[in-house]
Amino acid sequence: MTSSPVEEIKQRLDLVEVIGEYITLRPAGKYHKALCPFHHEKTPSFMVDRENGIWHCFGCAKGGDVFSFVQELEGMEFVEALRLLAKKANVDLPRYDPSLQNQKTRLHECLALAASFYHQTLLKSTEAEAARQYIKERRISDDMVEQFLIGYSPNAWDGALKALQGRGYSAEEIYLAGLAIQKEKGAGHYDRFRNRLMFTIRDAHGTVVGFGGRVLPPAPEDAAKYINSPQSLVYNKSQVVYGLDQAKTAIKEAGFTIVVEGYMDLIASHQAGVKNVVASSGTAFTQDQLRLIKRYSPNLRICFDEDPAGASATRRSIDLALTEAMDVRVIRLSNAKDPDELIRTKPESWPQAVASAVRFMDDAFDRTLVKLDLKQVDDKKRAAAALLPIIARLPDGVEQTHYLQKLAEAIRVDEQVLRRQINRSAAPAGPAVESTPAEAKLDRRARLSEQALSILISCPELIREAASKLAADWLTESDQALYKLLRDHYSENHDSSEANFQASLRSMAGPLAEKISLLLLLAEREWPEASADELHSELRSINRYLEQLSLDQTLANLKADIRAAESAGDSARTNQLINHFHEVSKKRQLVSR
Ligand SMILES: [Zn+2]
Repeated sequence: MTSSPVEEIKQRLDLVEVIGEYITLRPAGKYHKALCPFHHEKTPSFMVDRENGIWHCFGCAKGGDVFSFVQELEGMEFVEALRLLAKKANVDLPRYDPSLQNQKTRLHECLALAASFYHQTLLKSTEAEAARQYIKERRISDDMVEQFLIGYSPNAWDGALKALQGRGYSAEEIYLAGLAIQKEKGAGHYDRFRNRLMFTIRDAHGTVVGFGGRVLPPAPEDAAKYINSPQSLVYNKSQVVYGLDQAKTAIKEAGFTIVVEGYMDLIASHQAGVKNVVASSGTAFTQDQLRLIKRYSPNLRICFDEDPAGASATRRSIDLALTEAMDVRVIRLSNAKDPDELIRTKPESWPQAVASAVRFMDDAFDRTLVKLDLKQVDDKKRAAAALLPIIARLPDGVEQTHYLQKLAEAIRVDEQVLRRQINRSAAPAGPAVESTPAEAKLDRRARLSEQALSILISCPELIREAASKLAADWLTESDQALYKLLRDHYSENHDSSEANFQASLRSMAGPLAEKISLLLLLAEREWPEASADELHSELRSINRYLEQLSLDQTLANLKADIRAAESAGDSARTNQLINHFHEVSKKRQLVSR
């Protein structure tokens, strides 16, 4: 029997490994858990069941298999996730793609070919002599040229066009890939990148999506320092971070991401052995970009560029990072204008500078206060004006108080005065903090119902007693079928081990199998490492709550019936119902003790 590609991919891929590429998973019993990447939380609700290939978040109720995880996290359509995972699993997909997907694939292939064309031109063409000379002067090693697929675009109007057309791509496709420009007059296209050092831009999966072309000396006065690929069907600039594909593993190992400004800074850093680095390319990060980086670590170390344009872009990135609750530190360089220069002169001082990064707020204090004479009242006001708005934006109350105190001490003003000032201006400017998705709220009965079943499945020895104490109709309707299955299965398999019991239960559960896996995950999350005794007492209190809820429901129904009987003038039935109501109320009081 041949299984579908989807099944084959699921079988071949280890869910823990795939998810582990995005977030840090920790073992929890036979499962793994993590802080949920889909909602904001402080304690882990996100559980992964490797054996059954499913994941679930008990905070926001998202869950599914390896495909839904990648779709959700990457913001991909199913077909795209399928393609990505098929590649990872080495599974061949039959080609039955919708046309848009085909077009994207064509553009990706066209861009990959272009990257290799530029790269080969740099390595081999006599025309590229000046470019090679430049690389030599910047002391970029051959390994780095290779690893980052650095290239050279020939000084011609149709260099890339000819090369790519020769490989079967139309001028229109080359234009759509962002490699050519439409002529203003008449028909036709010409190369976008001419006589430039080419930096290949790849997405987080290493797929080529665009290029940055740097001007080469001697450059004409009016030449832009950089020309970049435009936004395209395959290049969403707000979602791609340069260098991330080469940095992912190192970021997770180091526990933080270094942000530098330029391609050269990034490549120099790699060459110096510091690999957990991405480049902002001189513009402010978007929220999407920061979230992409945050998947690998919530900690940033940013290397400021001193020029005003760079500084303001950096400041916007930092503001946004703070609202994303990221920890931001600043790498300070002494005697160098950027990491590239530092590494060329003293490569060993780059890792040191990274290691001694200071908290962003401490850096802001130092930068502000060094210029001021804090005995002067005007300078005190200046210090407060510069620092209070930043302090106001800190999302953490403890941190905010810490820096308010620090400022109060520095300028010798009462902390309460500063706090009032913050409250008055209430976090001006800066992006608004987006509200986190609301925690999914199961109603209380549904939650208790699931908890009861999850205890019984994870600790089958409790089923015998439960059979007499837990009434099926206390559970939600959808859980009642599973409860019956559980009891039936237990009566035949009460001698098997816990693991065997669970496995055989799942194998005969049909459509309920997935629910069983979920409930096992739930038990692991709610009562990790609990003993059978502890689970038993937990089950008893859950039973009591369920009974209370069930009685409350009965009472509510009776009230409605009584009202109906009264208005129908049926006094005999009214009295009968009232008596029943009293009986149930008494029982309800007993249960709540
Ligand atoms: Zn969640």
